[in-house]
Amino acid sequence: MRLRLLRLNTCSPKRFCDRIRVEHPGKPVIVGGVHVSSCAEPVEPFDAKIQGPGELALMQILREGVIQGYTYNVPVDDLNSLPLPAYELIEPSRYHHTIEGQKAIGVMVTRGCPYSCVFCSKSTHGRKVLRIDIKRIEDLLVKVYFYGWTALNFHDDNLMLDKNYLKELCEMLSKYRFIWRCWARTDHVTLDALKMMKAAGCREIGFGIESGSQLILTA
Ligand code: SF4
Repeated sequence: MRLRLLRLNTCSPKRFCDRIRVEHPGKPVIVGGVHVSSCAEPVEPFDAKIQGPGELALMQILREGVIQGYTYNVPVDDLNSLPLPAYELIEPSRYHHTIEGQKAIGVMVTRGCPYSCVFCSKSTHGRKVLRIDIKRIEDLLVKVYFYGWTALNFHDDNLMLDKNYLKELCEMLSKYRFIWRCWARTDHVTLDALKMMKAAGCREIGFGIESGSQLILTA
């Protein structure tokens, strides 16, 4: 069995699923991700769906085949137990996100967030925070650099959550010439952390701001 992995945001999953079936007849179509994990919609029109993280669920599917109509939910408890992504299979020319003109690849070194912002779905990774060891991230970045990326787009929910981990990460990143961006909460910002991040190559931080209106925030 050969699995094709896609990430999509679409208002018409049935139409998208139909198109995949036309282009890949006879192949199982499995859906997953944040939207699927946060709603209890039926599996149809897909063959199966994955709620929560996908790695171990996909390995189970590869081992045992797809159970038609089944919702897979196989948690990942240790990010360090997962193999590094196969960057050698990714073609940089097909990626168009840049930071200061440099091609940026998405990376994620933590999962989960302990907060409960009402507008956020954490149904995929939950409240428990998991982290990849810094040495392992360094192995990953060496691989990323080897395959041509010089900019990193950290997709972690909140890279500034744990200042000790952030410090270790920045110290490691300072050895290389990557530039990068990340997401964080505004109440985790400190001047020291910003200076440390800038020195380590950070060029941009995205903040999730629910509303500019206090009325809506307290509603
Ligand atoms: S801090 Fe970010 S990831 Fe965490 S609950 Fe709020 S919006 Fe979601």
